[in-house]
Amino acid sequence: MINDLNQLPPAGNKYASKLRFRHCAQEQQILRYAIPTEYCGHGNTFHDLVEAHQALGKLTQDSGLILSINAHLWGCVFPVLLYGTEPQKEEWLPDLLSGDLIAGHAITETQAGSDLSALETTATQTKDSFVLNGYKRFITNTPIADVLVVYALLEGELSAFLVKKDDIGANFRDKPHVDSCVTATMGDVILLGCSIPFDRRLGSAGAGKMMAQTALEFERAFIFAGISGIMGSHLTTVINYSRERQADGAYLGAHQGVSHKIAEMKVGLDTIRLWVNECARLKDHNKRITLASAQTKLFASEAFLQFCLDAVQILGANGMITNNPTLALVHDALASRLFAGSSEIQKNIIAALLGTGEGFKR
Ligand SMILES: Cc1cc2nc3c(=O)[nH]c(=O)nc-3n(C[C@H](O)[C@H](O)[C@H](O)COP(=O)(O)OP(=O)(O)OC[C@H]3O[C@@H](n4cnc5c(N)ncnc54)[C@H](O)[C@@H]3O)c2cc1C
Repeated sequence: MINDLNQLPPAGNKYASKLRFRHCAQEQQILRYAIPTEYCGHGNTFHDLVEAHQALGKLTQDSGLILSINAHLWGCVFPVLLYGTEPQKEEWLPDLLSGDLIAGHAITETQAGSDLSALETTATQTKDSFVLNGYKRFITNTPIADVLVVYALLEGELSAFLVKKDDIGANFRDKPHVDSCVTATMGDVILLGCSIPFDRRLGSAGAGKMMAQTALEFERAFIFAGISGIMGSHLTTVINYSRERQADGAYLGAHQGVSHKIAEMKVGLDTIRLWVNECARLKDHNKRITLASAQTKLFASEAFLQFCLDAVQILGANGMITNNPTLALVHDALASRLFAGSSEIQKNIIAALLGTGEGFKR
């Protein structure tokens, strides 16, 4: 269990983000949860992973760090574990789990976010390599990444490729920034005739769509483990404030309009925890999480936003002071309704699994 982050380097720029990521990997061994021991993991459960991520969120109060770690794990570590050949696992997993390599995944493009079928990045097979061309956008960890799992069309079907930052023709850029989870780094990936050897294709040819969907399911299921750790501290702040500040001759918390908000914040937070734990239970029983991860992500991101809005409302103008951490969390909550698939897309998935919704034809 994580209990000492005193040595965590302060946040600030991309170098600090890298140091903080590495610290969590090396001092806290945070990247080894739910990975079998034969691949250098802890050999424990998804339930253990959820507890560790909650503790990390609580101690660091850093949603950018949580986003960065989740992008690394679900975007690259688990795809290599699940779809890599034995030589690929041996080559990549030790350094990915120690934090010596930082990773992520590049799905989104300038003209294709929610719609995977609109992706245009291509991979062409030549005599001795794959050659990638395309433009990926909003990719978490790009400025600090050593390798990214890039999804590209190979003979018209999506496939996944491990692209290194120093591959010729690969440009991992430091921009654009978004105003959320600000300690996570983000950037575009430009691939111009980027030539990579055959052993960098991950999974079979044409399996990319399934692999991307699986990676996103994991991210939807578990990213709120860490975030819920952060939310717990904000709830405590708000409760304390409601017990200290007075209005109309009574403490804020004595006003039903305030105490009911606090009660709803508590229910939202604990329901997020229940959903995340349900996903862990399903994974620990080798069950599918397509529906549960979409439900978790939808509920959690909407509840997170409402939680933050209520928190800032209760803190009043004090909550609006520049750099107030609760105010910053509102931006993180807005982003959470977009990354790993927006709330609308989660509703589409849930409806489709119920046999209705977009695309349903009699
Ligand atoms: C902080 C952050 C980190 C990110 N990290 C990564 C990363 O590491 N890797 C990566 O590949 N991408 C990443 N992204 C991109 C993210 O995956 C996309 O933002 C997301 O998929 C939505 O795509 P879009 O922003 O292009 O919106 P669009 O797809 O253009 O959608 C715009 C709006 O229309 C709605 N909409 C679109 N289609 C439908 C539909 N069929 N039905 C109903 N509503 C619809 C959406 O819900 C949204 O509200 C990140 C984004 C953020 C904000």
